[in-house]
Amino acid sequence: AVDLPRRLLDGDHISLGNTTLKFSMLEELEEHALMQLVALTVRDPLTNAYNRRYLMDHLRGELAFAARLGTPVGLLLIDIDHFKQVNDSYGHRVGDIVLQLVAASMQRLLRPYDVLCRYGSEEFVIVGEETDEGGALWLAELIRTELEAVKFHSDLGTLNVTCSVGVAPFGAAGGTWEQLFKATDEALYASKRGGRNKVTVWTPRLSGAAA
Ligand code: GH3
Ligand code: MG
Ligand code: MG
Repeated sequence: AVDLPRRLLDGDHISLGNTTLKFSMLEELEEHALMQLVALTVRDPLTNAYNRRYLMDHLRGELAFAARLGTPVGLLLIDIDHFKQVNDSYGHRVGDIVLQLVAASMQRLLRPYDVLCRYGSEEFVIVGEETDEGGALWLAELIRTELEAVKFHSDLGTLNVTCSVGVAPFGAAGGTWEQLFKATDEALYASKRGGRNKVTVWTPRLSGAAA
């Protein structure tokens, strides 16, 4: 219920039905600190890509929206090839920098509304909004060729990495995010088995082929 109209003061509570809002006056510094706290809960600190928790929330909403409107969503699973060798030959510190640069290189190729997530150690997921099979394949090839071309400089010499990608367009692989993830995993496995530095788009015949 809204009482007498008056200026809101810091700390006031406003009731709207069952929801109670708290009015706070934030100074710029406080607001900045708060935004940083929010970023900490949704981003991976090393690469600044979104974290897995954010990805799951985002994807659930994205798939529901896509199913309702009939728009496509493309999911890419990207895994760096022989990354263990990078750590073994150049050290973990260089490995960390390579991960940061790989994430930044991929981020540059995305549209502002695509979501890049560090899914695990050296695995990344991209959710491409309104991205059909052709669009997802195009993006995956773009990322693969970009990484293949990037040179990383370190004290121990110049190195480069390649990546393998599994692609699954939403719809082709089934309706839930679990099915979509399974499909990208199977497609990624096919890229690895096929010799790495490859892109594979999921097809039903890949099902059950992953170990
Ligand atoms: P494959 O081509 O089959 O993918 O081989 P791989 O060596 O990339 O695969 P594997 O999963 O065996 O190795 C992943 C490595 O990533 C192992 C681990 O040491 C390294 N790693 C995971 N997280 C980090 C990290 O945060 N920093 C660094 N530097 N290395 C990491
Ligand atoms: Mg790997
Ligand atoms: Mg891996």
